[in-house]
Amino acid sequence: MILVVGGAGYIGSHVVKQLYKNGQDVIVFDNFKNGHREFAKWGKCFEGDLNDIHTLNQLFETNQINSVIHFAAYAYVNESVMDPQKYYLNNVMGSLNLLKAMLTHNVKEIVFSSTCATYGNPTYIPITECHIQKPINPYGWSKLMIEQVIKDYHHAYGLQYAILRYFNAAGADIEGEVGEWHEPETHLIPIILQVALEEKDSVQIFGTDYETPDGTCIRDYIHVMDLADAHIKAMNYIKGTQQSEVFNLGTGNGFSVNEVINTARSIIEKPIRVVESQRRPGDPAILIANSNKANNLLKWEPQYSDLRTIISSAWKWQQILSMK
Ligand code: UDP
Repeated sequence: MILVVGGAGYIGSHVVKQLYKNGQDVIVFDNFKNGHREFAKWGKCFEGDLNDIHTLNQLFETNQINSVIHFAAYAYVNESVMDPQKYYLNNVMGSLNLLKAMLTHNVKEIVFSSTCATYGNPTYIPITECHIQKPINPYGWSKLMIEQVIKDYHHAYGLQYAILRYFNAAGADIEGEVGEWHEPETHLIPIILQVALEEKDSVQIFGTDYETPDGTCIRDYIHVMDLADAHIKAMNYIKGTQQSEVFNLGTGNGFSVNEVINTARSIIEKPIRVVESQRRPGDPAILIANSNKANNLLKWEPQYSDLRTIISSAWKWQQILSMK
């Protein structure tokens, strides 16, 4: 059985759906603080918090868990700067507890959600896995710390891992069953869609004076279903090869904030009001992945990550969400 920690969240729920559809035995563990109960509809569900060691041990004692995919984390960069303790207690301590429970119960395979935020300000583009890691916010540090812990446990205890560093997760299940649902929402694409639905007045463009062709930040948007596929391939890779690796997950293509807004306008055909604002602290000008390693070793190729498919699937989902 595969344990998906944080399986009721945005990326986790897409992975759970795909695992379930593949016929895998899957169990979701979530505290439902940011996860959604209605997303935990595939496989088994076990409610609990990673900082509750008793529940965690019960989870492992009452289920035949062979491997773990670990998503559970807080992921708001700004909040992590304002309240780092929240991030270190949850993201770092929670992960340490999970790893302890895994080792105690002899579970030795983990796929861990990491992030391009562990690189900090890139010194070259596209970013490869060996780029220096110098986070510029506590969220990035919390992920980097657990990367290090996992690598140390690999050497000392034989823990097998795949560490996946996502670039900008975006889009939604093309069947519209799950999607991005954050409260509050801070991400560019859902905000654009909320403006199109007249749930918000305007999109703020955070910075128009970056050193990019149109002055707005460039990001590498990767469809959440492609991320889900990468997790499953990474899990199979660990099992098949007994190798532990780090992988970037992106497309290698970057789009500026203006390009994303204009693509959304052309798909949705509704006015999307924008307001030019100050730069958001902690935003590098350009983040683009080199994902050749995942392409080669995992035989992973994004299928849904052209910008139009990303925005169309997110649009379908946002309209469903607006009825909830
Ligand atoms: N962004 C923006 N307005 C918003 C939200 C985001 O201009 O309301 C920009 C942000 O500065 C970044 C890009 O859009 O350059 C993607 O931001 P998002 O928050 O979606 O993801 P992040 O890059 O922070 O993971």
